[in-house]
Amino acid sequence: MSVLVLNSGSSSIKFGVYSRRHGGEPQLQCRGEIEGMGGGVRRFFARAANGRTLIDGEPQRASNHAEALAELLAWLQQRPGMDALLAAGHRVVHGGQDFTEPLRIDAQILEQLQQLVPLAPLHQPHNLAAIRALAERYPSLPQIACFDTAFHAGQPSVARQFALPRRLTEAGILRYGFHGLSYSYIATRLPQVTGSARGQVVVAHLGNGASMCALSDGRSQATSMGFTALDGLPMGTRCGALDAGVILHLLASENMSATEISDLLYHQSGLLGVSGISNDMRVLLASDDPRAREAVELFVYRISRELGSLAAALGGLDALVFTGGIGEHSAEIRARVCAAAAWLGINLDIDANGSHATRISSDDSAVSVWVIPTDEELMIARSACELAGSATGT
Ligand code: ADP
Repeated sequence: MSVLVLNSGSSSIKFGVYSRRHGGEPQLQCRGEIEGMGGGVRRFFARAANGRTLIDGEPQRASNHAEALAELLAWLQQRPGMDALLAAGHRVVHGGQDFTEPLRIDAQILEQLQQLVPLAPLHQPHNLAAIRALAERYPSLPQIACFDTAFHAGQPSVARQFALPRRLTEAGILRYGFHGLSYSYIATRLPQVTGSARGQVVVAHLGNGASMCALSDGRSQATSMGFTALDGLPMGTRCGALDAGVILHLLASENMSATEISDLLYHQSGLLGVSGISNDMRVLLASDDPRAREAVELFVYRISRELGSLAAALGGLDALVFTGGIGEHSAEIRARVCAAAAWLGINLDIDANGSHATRISSDDSAVSVWVIPTDEELMIARSACELAGSATGT
């Protein structure tokens, strides 16, 4: 029996197929991605668990998410095991106040999740569209939603509150936090990788979307993203933390509409906005344009400040973990963040960092530093296997 995992992002659909083993970890069969919807390089690739390439080329249509999903499902249907699909698991970015655990989706839950679309406009519509498309094709297939907000639900209330009138807090205007599937995966990996799950750890998930999270004994205590995934660090095209007064100014003095401001903050800001060149860190690091250098400098500066803030929230720091596309692959960004964090007692092992070793701090570093590739899909596969199993009584 197989479980299909779908992680529909703003410009890509990542997927994985896992076999379910009784009492054991889901076993990866294949994983891949269709990328480049809405611009950028279009690519459809998939690899078997042993790394063998199953497909790698330009998708035939896939100019939008619906087409990409149709192409993916058509390809998957040719693969062995898809006739014995047990469940599908989905990353759903926003669970709001009501959904703090993975759950099986029904029509009513889907409607409630639809209400949260304005809070995660880059992701939630694609997450829900994938659920609907699968329901149409496989009407009786159990579908499980796994929420990016859920991992942060147990944070102390002081970490979740805005200094706004109480009635707004009670209405759910809170710091929810995101990238929770990634952080919960890292929390499960910490004891295996570092030999200890205990202690005070900051995880930097640096990808096209980027955030940081303070963990104490594996539990989320504070995070840089807030009510929406706009807050915190500057990202590929998102602005990160912004004085709310800027938005008032844009509304009142620049006569911009809410839709225009939303487009500005989600799609035209961040690394792309500052550099005017690209949202891709690889492109910026390779460029000698001063605007590219400035964008990278701002990214590193804001990570460094956030690290200080999260260490303060924890009252100390034992370890720093890098993950996400930039965190896993860019030795330069890691080195620059660590250099700025020397005051915390961080001492980088330059060779280990250059070779992307798992531990990249020197033996005498007061804070250990790690590179741990994240695996959001595995977290979803675990929940899907568990919930589909309980639904069918196995
Ligand atoms: P998403 O948030 O879409 O899941 P990823 O975690 O896949 O993003 O990260 C994508 C980003 O990682 C790309 O935009 C690119 O900037 C960055 N990246 C990937 N490889 C490298 C590298 N070798 N050096 C620097 N940046 C990289």
